Amino acid sequence: MVMESINPATEEVLDVFEELTDQQLETALEASRQGHEAWARASFSHRRQVLEQAGRLLRQEADAHARMITREMGKPVGEARGEVEKCAWACDYYAEQGERFLAPEPVDTDASRSYVRYAPLGPVLAVMPWNFPFWQVFRAAAPTLMAGNAMLLKHASNVPACAAAIEGILAEAGLPQGVFQNLPIGSGRVEGVINDPRVRAVTLTGSETAGRKVAAAAGSALKKTVLELGGSDPFLVLEDADLDEAARLAATARNINSGQSCIAAKRFIVVDTVADAFVERLRARLAELPVGDPTAPETRIGPQARGDLRDTLHRQVRDSVKGGARLLLGGEIPGGKGFFYPPTLLDGVTEEMPVAREETFGPVAPVLRVPDEEAAVALANHSRYGLGGAVWSGDRERAEAVGQRLDVGCVFINGMVKSDPRLPFGGVKASGYGRELGQHGIREFTNIQSVWIG
Ligand code: NAP
Repeated sequence: MVMESINPATEEVLDVFEELTDQQLETALEASRQGHEAWARASFSHRRQVLEQAGRLLRQEADAHARMITREMGKPVGEARGEVEKCAWACDYYAEQGERFLAPEPVDTDASRSYVRYAPLGPVLAVMPWNFPFWQVFRAAAPTLMAGNAMLLKHASNVPACAAAIEGILAEAGLPQGVFQNLPIGSGRVEGVINDPRVRAVTLTGSETAGRKVAAAAGSALKKTVLELGGSDPFLVLEDADLDEAARLAATARNINSGQSCIAAKRFIVVDTVADAFVERLRARLAELPVGDPTAPETRIGPQARGDLRDTLHRQVRDSVKGGARLLLGGEIPGGKGFFYPPTLLDGVTEEMPVAREETFGPVAPVLRVPDEEAAVALANHSRYGLGGAVWSGDRERAEAVGQRLDVGCVFINGMVKSDPRLPFGGVKASGYGRELGQHGIREFTNIQSVWIG
């Protein structure tokens, strides 16, 4: 079996990668076990040096990595460069903070001394998506490695070059052999890896469908999982919001990574009295976004990563329009090569329409009008997803109170939802469970060990 790296802007096959044979996979699993044993005993200062070096290497070659990301999955190159720099930040952050986050914690008991320690767990399998092909991996790897675990990467099949590059960076940074390995395998072989006794836990970022499959396999093998799945983040605009600023950030929050982000704003829930004014501003902002060649520095919307994903998005738009949504912008597949889709705005959307009920993974902005704050909160929470949410109001205290009523993992007031190495990241409901980043993230893949000394 082979994996193809395809440029989504041109549909040209860039490269072909061989899948691992069963024997090569077995060798990798054994190397992971052995690598883990050595790495778990390495000092924090040794682990810190390796992560700091990984951060330096990422920064040194940021432009080359960014160009590769853009070629392979179509992200505008400026955003790809930002992604590489964010990976370096995560490496630095865990290099600096990891030891403190995992320091033993004394607890008073009947012992002469007792404490809790955060010991390495064992090799962790990371099943990762293509949308942030560097960031999603480093977001999982930096804390996991700093905690003394080995990692096995099963990356999405459409980003094999990024997967190989990440393995190269971490090896060059000085990570001992076997501690981080890329496994070029199809998704059909993931369950076998989960069942292998040398693998101790699984982290997956991707779709709800993949999350359910992987969690079921891990559950039956009694292995811990962290799941970062899809989202349909609400973006609430109350009647006292700064509409210019809300519309400006709404356009950005929807269209980051050409709309293919789990924490993109995906449902614009707007109070009736300001809905016309907001929609007019949002339309103007969306209409001015440059669409096209993702290697051009001014491009804000590149192609969608794959043709089948664009087809799904277009079906969601078409069916919603059939159901009564008003198409105010975009909504047509352009001619020519590449999986492009234009910024699209739909007004008069109701919750049973596909663009509101399902996750839309592309530059499609549905506006749902509501009479008041109460209705906005109810509609926001009436979703199978619960990843992030944003609330816009001139009254920060009011917005904060509304935000706390959202059934989501991250709330942003007068801002757009984004991940930050210092804050835990993750969702509730069908958006998954467990947390990445922050102190909570690094502790997910540790053995929380109680020690009692008589
Ligand atoms: P996906 O199918 O969930 O892929 C994510 C990862 O899971 C890939 O490595 C994939 O491998 C693997 N995978 C898929 N099915 C699997 C299975 N049954 N068992 C084990 N591993 C499996 O995501 P996608 O098809 O690229 O995108 C589809 C949808 O996923 C999007 O429309 C969006 O809703 C969601 N998504 C969410 C995020 C996020 O950050 N939350 C990111 C990407 C996509 P292969 O590539 O080899 O199939």
